[in-house]
Amino acid sequence: MILKNLPQRPLFMRPETIAIQSTRFTDTNAASVVAPLYLSTTFERNEEYELPHGFLYTRAHNPNRQQLESALATLEGGALALAFSSGQAATMTVFQCLQPGDHVIVPDDAYYGTPLLLQDLFSRWGLHFSRVDTSQAEAISQAIRPETKVVWLETPSNPLLKVADLEVVARLCRERGVLTVCDNTWATPILQRPLLLGCDVVMHSTTKYLGGHSDVLGGALVFREDGPLAQRARMVQTLGGAVPSPFDSWMISRGIKTLAVRVRQQSANAQQLAEFLAAHPAIERVHYPGLPSDPGYAVARRQMELPGGMLSVRVAGGAVEALRLAGRLRLFARATSLGGVESLIEHRASAEGPTSQSPPNLLRVSVGLEHAEDLIADLAQALEPA
Ligand SMILES: *Cc1c(COP(=O)(O)O)cnc(C)c1O
Repeated sequence: MILKNLPQRPLFMRPETIAIQSTRFTDTNAASVVAPLYLSTTFERNEEYELPHGFLYTRAHNPNRQQLESALATLEGGALALAFSSGQAATMTVFQCLQPGDHVIVPDDAYYGTPLLLQDLFSRWGLHFSRVDTSQAEAISQAIRPETKVVWLETPSNPLLKVADLEVVARLCRERGVLTVCDNTWATPILQRPLLLGCDVVMHSTTKYLGGHSDVLGGALVFREDGPLAQRARMVQTLGGAVPSPFDSWMISRGIKTLAVRVRQQSANAQQLAEFLAAHPAIERVHYPGLPSDPGYAVARRQMELPGGMLSVRVAGGAVEALRLAGRLRLFARATSLGGVESLIEHRASAEGPTSQSPPNLLRVSVGLEHAEDLIADLAQALEPA
């Protein structure tokens, strides 16, 4: 069994090709085109007591996980990737690499679970954090303290789709000796490659677009350099053990093969939905960086290939009108999560509960691969006056 080892940097092929090539496998046993599934938790030594393929025990390495990690590193243009059992396990690994007394800056608008980890788990281990509008580089600069170690970015942000200028923020953090970590879950490496814009680490919930079919949970960290931080994170991964199973790794690798076509079509559909909704009198505001009126439009145009498949709408009236719209839709599943082939709609304030900062009239939409005109017709019927 030999993994196809593609050169990982620079990006010498286009993302579609990388997505297919990096998930291929050279199987010397049967010459299978698709990767076999290695369920074995343990690997045999030879007579000389060596590990002939370098695999020892599946918590430390597994062929299916190694293939996924090598694909992720190649796609993001990184030196090394680590796969985890969930996005939260990947995020937690970054915080576990820090020391008591360290300070982290997180976006004021971020995936709900990210600041919650800092608040509910890591405050007991002495990590401090501030929430900052990371779409304003000046606000980040002012919030950096001598003990600040990480600026966490998420762009477009969740659920307001605010856009952070990755190149500007990465440069300013580098000058101040602070690491930048970018949650690239919403953009995917097809639309945005933060490491090539100067960020140090990319984080993914591979549960979303990379898996792509709402049927597997996973996370990843991709490092620009294979230095002390990456090695410490690898130790947390294999010692802590929050690794994806061989089958989960296989499923995410399979999802990656179609990532480029899915994400581009989802983005094209989202653009059409955003334009329809922005012109509708029952909609107060659409948050989507593909609309020229959006505050993130100019930066998104510069750093993203396309604005992506996620959007949020603020329904005129309030929470009651928003829930009424969600309730009347027939093609959109009323469910959390994102990045699958089916369109999902969610009232974030209900999902997050009483501590939510999400506007009460906001619905977040993950635009799927249905025909855009069918989705628009469904929205139009649901928006008709009562
Ligand atoms: C879902 C999500 C996460 C958390 O990932 P899990 O796989 O659910 O643990 C983190 N960041 C973003 C942007 C997400 O959408």
